[in-house]
Amino acid sequence: VRISPATEGQQTAAAAPPASSEKIMGRIEGKVAIITGGASGIGRGCAERLSAEGATVVVTDIDTTLGEQTVANIVKAGGKAEFIKHDVTSESDWVDVVEQTVARHGGLNILVNNAGIGIGGSIVDMTLEDWQRQQAINLDGVFLGIKYAIPAMRDAGSGSIINMSSVAGLKGAANLAAYNATKGGVRLLTKGVALECAQSRWPIRVNSVHPGVIDTPIWTKVNPEYFEEGENAVDVEAMATLGVPTGEVGYPLDIANGVLFLASDESRYITGTELVIDGGLSA
Ligand code: NAD
Repeated sequence: VRISPATEGQQTAAAAPPASSEKIMGRIEGKVAIITGGASGIGRGCAERLSAEGATVVVTDIDTTLGEQTVANIVKAGGKAEFIKHDVTSESDWVDVVEQTVARHGGLNILVNNAGIGIGGSIVDMTLEDWQRQQAINLDGVFLGIKYAIPAMRDAGSGSIINMSSVAGLKGAANLAAYNATKGGVRLLTKGVALECAQSRWPIRVNSVHPGVIDTPIWTKVNPEYFEEGENAVDVEAMATLGVPTGEVGYPLDIANGVLFLASDESRYITGTELVIDGGLSA
């Protein structure tokens, strides 16, 4: 915190970094955001952070229990939030979520297409069913979100769409090829749509975020061997062997801070780009 001459002497200690729910400046005050996969991990972190900066957040997920818990925490902290059960692979669910959001909150300004799964393993052993399920959630879900958000954002007069890709959308990884395909798809879908919005003079920016190794429950599902048994946390030592240069995993708040920047007008000249948040993993 910079101390202005007027307050110098009255203030002695610099403020600690804010917690995810601590309001700083109301950087997205009055905006309405939909966050998919908001019940857990990165999505939950984004919902808390965006709410803390003044947005009304619509948390969506297939997991009702955790989704309602996320919303209850936000409301308890003084934020505005609601939960809607939503499968991102369902077109009718998307129509419903966008309609309800606009009807109840007066418009839509921010969409975080975050819901995703990771199915690892050899491509030779990958079943067509698993390939298609992963494509449906990670890529079809993002397509549908974009398709239904754009008209609502045009009506609202402003929009920022943030698509959760991955470092795995920038480079390949053995035993993650099917996931690579979905996240690489998200990266270029983002750029194509960003250009369409820009050239059409729609007031909507579209960017992708590329997390590295972030401590969330997803790792229990992708690579159980990196997971400490019985704990809902990443085995940091095992992760270090994955080569994170800073030697540490990231946390949902690290991603949420990047999402907040892309959601706010501070990034008004940024579209079609990729924000990598990975402790140097892809450098
Ligand atoms: P997570 O498992 O904690 O959260 C994912 C959420 O998505 C869950 O709440 C789940 O219920 C929800 N979901 C799954 N299928 C859905 C569907 N069909 N419809 C709606 N919601 C659905 O995982 P996370 O780590 O927070 O992942 C969030 C995003 O970040 C994903 O897209 C993931 O690929 C990406 N990502 C994560 C990491 C990481 O290290 N954790 C790294 C790179 C990218």
